Amino acid sequence: MSDSGMRRLPAVHAVLDRPGLADWLLSQGRQAVVDAVRSAIDEAREELRGGREPAVDVDALAQRAVVLLGTGRPTLRPVVNATGILLNTGLGRAPLAEEAIEAVMKVARGYCNLEFDLDRGERGKRTDGVEALLRRLTGAEAAAVVNNNAGATILALHALADGREVIISRGQLIEIGGSFRLPEIFEVSGARLKEVGTTNKTRLSDYARAIGPDTAAILRVHPSNYRIVGFTEDVHIKELSQLAHEHGIFAIDDIGSGLLAPGCPPHVRDEPAVVDGLTAGADVVMFSGDKLLGGPQCGILVGTRKAIARIQADPLMRALRVDKMTLAALEATLRLMLDPSLARARIPLWAFLNTPLDELRRRAETVAETFRAAFRLNADVIDSTSFLGGGSAPAEPIPTAVVRVSPPFPAPWTTESALARALRLGEPPVVARIQAGCLLFDLRAMTEAEDRQLVEAFRALLEAV
Ligand SMILES: *Cc1c(COP(=O)(O)O)cnc(C)c1O
Repeated sequence: MSDSGMRRLPAVHAVLDRPGLADWLLSQGRQAVVDAVRSAIDEAREELRGGREPAVDVDALAQRAVVLLGTGRPTLRPVVNATGILLNTGLGRAPLAEEAIEAVMKVARGYCNLEFDLDRGERGKRTDGVEALLRRLTGAEAAAVVNNNAGATILALHALADGREVIISRGQLIEIGGSFRLPEIFEVSGARLKEVGTTNKTRLSDYARAIGPDTAAILRVHPSNYRIVGFTEDVHIKELSQLAHEHGIFAIDDIGSGLLAPGCPPHVRDEPAVVDGLTAGADVVMFSGDKLLGGPQCGILVGTRKAIARIQADPLMRALRVDKMTLAALEATLRLMLDPSLARARIPLWAFLNTPLDELRRRAETVAETFRAAFRLNADVIDSTSFLGGGSAPAEPIPTAVVRVSPPFPAPWTTESALARALRLGEPPVVARIQAGCLLFDLRAMTEAEDRQLVEAFRALLEAV
């Protein structure tokens, strides 16, 4: 044991004073930092006892404390999405508008009138506000909101077709995002699946032939994340709705993406709109809140009074209900949607889609210049493509500008994947694209503030070595 080493161990307060801990004191509070410093000193003491010679000056111990504080970081953290996939399910899909964030914070902090009618002083319905907005925005007779669109599908089928048959085209029996397999969802709902047509062709007559006394509904699912190209044929929801109504059964339209009205935003083609499904006569149109709507995760059902009333009365409705924070975010998002120009400016997803290519190029040049000048990285700007993602129109390329970092990479990162991993483990984590031996940073799904975070993340990484 080295007595001199033991004697040299500094006091907790001496380490706490080091500048490297100032930010942590602010963000984590004094107790957490004191605990980390104590643990760092204890670790060093153990190493000295074990006959090793660790650095025991105040800065080295502050550094150890920072590492310990870092491992105590929350597992769910904000990341910079430099992948260029705007609706990245792995990265939480749509970022919320400031208005939605504020609405969430307000109701999260205290109590709210979630199920309380302030006027009459009695029990109210939690989704009244958003349902009114949804009716106004889509023209639907009625609306319902649940936890997500997968839940909405189970709920609609359970409410409208439990124990009976639902007809669907083989071309639409899909798997979305690896964990949403339609046939499995059918099974959970209690409805029986009746497949018609082939993968590439289904005709109205195929549906007509399949309708029997036990048929409850026809379901159309928008094939969001894949496209069968070439020799294909499918039936429009208008014809399906007509056929359904001739036989007194329901037409259900799962459009997936949540574009409310046709015509916007840019770079989005071939996405069915909610309003179109309703005008075509569908009894229920379902979609996600966190795809093109740019709101919180939820599943939205709009449609006829009759169909939605059965859905609202289903016991599953209670199991799939949304919480106050989701409702607050959804209401604020829908309010922005009342004015398309406001939506374009405030809803991050829409703002990202509307960013002109020239502006992305200019921002990318600024980042690349810092990479070259301050970090001596081999960086340039190239044109590339972003994607909407998230089970929405994957084949639609969106022009973008990316910062490309090419080899040689700064030591100790010898490969693009090692550097990418280091950036993912940084603060904030940055998720980049790896392509042809290079790292690409796509600014399409980033704010200008995040451009600076990207630069700072790189700086922290390079300074740490
Ligand atoms: C994304 C999608 C779903 C699943 O929606 P979640 O909100 O992720 O549960 C269902 N159907 C279609 C057509 C989709 O695109």
